[in-house]
Formats: sequence, structure tokens, C-alpha cells
Amino acid sequence: MKNNMIKQFIALVILLASPLVMAQQNFDDIEIQALKVRDNIYMLVGSGGNITVQIGAEGVLVIDTQYAELSDKILAKIRELSDKPLRYIINTHHHGDHVGGNENIKNAGFTLSGGNVGAALSTAGQGATILAHENVLLNLASDENVSTELWPTLTYFSDKKDIFFNGEGVRIIHQPNAHTNGDSIIFFRKSDVITTGDAYITSFYPFIDMSSGGTLQGFIDASNAIIDLIIPEYGQDGGTLVIPGHGRLSDIGDVINWREMLTIVRDRIKDMKDRGMSLEEVLAAKPTRDYDPRWAGQGIFSTENFVTAAYMTLED
Ligand SMILES: [Zn+2]
Repeated sequence: MKNNMIKQFIALVILLASPLVMAQQNFDDIEIQALKVRDNIYMLVGSGGNITVQIGAEGVLVIDTQYAELSDKILAKIRELSDKPLRYIINTHHHGDHVGGNENIKNAGFTLSGGNVGAALSTAGQGATILAHENVLLNLASDENVSTELWPTLTYFSDKKDIFFNGEGVRIIHQPNAHTNGDSIIFFRKSDVITTGDAYITSFYPFIDMSSGGTLQGFIDASNAIIDLIIPEYGQDGGTLVIPGHGRLSDIGDVINWREMLTIVRDRIKDMKDRGMSLEEVLAAKPTRDYDPRWAGQGIFSTENFVTAAYMTLED
């Protein structure tokens, strides 16, 4: 692949992943729908990434915040579920359709000092805690157009972070190079629900954000990490439930289908690359043809974008 073509492709990916570009749409007609997932866990769907809400006696925990323009509607929906204080926001990664409402949602809540989460005393009281992997902060901070008010207020840098909230252990597990370099999947151990962010989606091919360290192999590793946490009720059905970054509530069968698609496409492209085929030749050979009717989307989710990023992020 020619160098300038790689540069053009990466520039396109950066542009499309930017919070500002993603926010250019009309939100007036968007309604926020709440789906009860299990016990005290809800999935909110509006525009942008799916939101997870965990409620209980101690307060409200929210995973991802969609767009700032939707914050009033999101907060109204959360208030239908609970009148307890909003205490935690967790971000699965730094993209604008997942962090856009951080400032508004944060300001609707507050942080208590202490607990096992390690919140600094200086942040107590000043809005809900925004918790994410430190690469989320680094990625947001590297874009001067992003307000500091959207930044995480508490980050972790190891492979996982645990909090105990509303009587339940919540494990936040870093996935180093899937959708981005800062992905977290969040496992609610008592409710038996996993929130994946865009490391797993049901709508389209994955968007491998190479400009932020995403790789195809990282997606496969993340799908294995998710499947590892799941206990099905019978066969490949039921049991642990999975809230994807985009799309519908899933169980193990859905995630296995996703992993198989990613793995087979990887093996095909790797084989072609090992035989010395250029990106143009691989694209022309249509290595995803049988999957395209199910998974092909537009723009960053298109077949061409997926195959290109897969090819470029596979090891030689
Ligand atoms: Zn994303």
C-alpha cells in the first residue's frame, strides 16, 4: 500500500471519529427508550452508543453518555428509574457518541469521598465521578476541540479496576487494542450483565479506529474476553446478558457469531497478505463477501473500511 494512501485513510478515520463530526445531526426527534435488562440494570437507547444504567440504594451509575444535545432527555429517563444521586459515569472509550454528554450528566450528580474507588478528596462534591481507562483521557486531551469538562476525573492504567456499588461488584476490564487503545468492558457480577462499548456491536462490521490504536486482533481478543465471562443458561442461549456499544441486547450466541466472523475474515486476509497480495488485490478478492449482507454498513462501518483496517493492522 502506498504511503499517501495510508495517510489519507488514517486522516479519514480521524475525521469520522471526531466528536465534532459525530455530533452534526438533528436530535429533536430522538426519544430515549429504556429496556430493563435484569434486576437493577437498564439499557438506554437514543442516538449514539447504548447507555447502561445501574440503580440502587447508593445511587445511579451510568455507562456512556451519548451526545450533549440529548442530556436533558437522558436525565429525564434516568429520573423515571431512580431519584437517587448520580454518582458514577464510566466511559467505555473516548468517541463523541459515547462521551458527548459527560459534562451535563456529571453536573447532575456528585462524588462522595472515600469508598474503595479511590476518588480524590478534592473531587468530592463536584459532580459525579467520570471513570475510564487513562487512554480515554489521553485521547480526549490530544484533541484541543474537546472541552476539559468531558474528561474523565478518575482513570485507571492497569488491566482492570473494581468498584463496589449498590451491593454489587463491578469489574472494569481494559481491552488494549480493539476499537481503540482505551476500551473498557464492564462486568456487573451480581446482575450478570456485561457492557462492552464498541468492542462488540451488533449492527455492522467493527470500526477499527487505527488512529487510536485499534486492531482487528484486539477485537478478537476482546470478544474472547467477553465470551470468557459469559455463562449461558443452556446451549448458546440465555444466561449472562451483553449490552453492546451499538445495536441490540445479546447473549453468548450473538457474541460467538461475531467472534467467528472476525476470526474467519482475519484468517482469509492474513493468508492473502502472507501470499504477498496488496491491499488493492485483497479488496478486489472480496474476502468478506459472504458476510457482507449481514454486516456491511456505510462510512466507517463499510466493507472497504473494515477490510482496509484489518489488512493494515494484521501483523506481517
Ligand atoms: Zn466508538
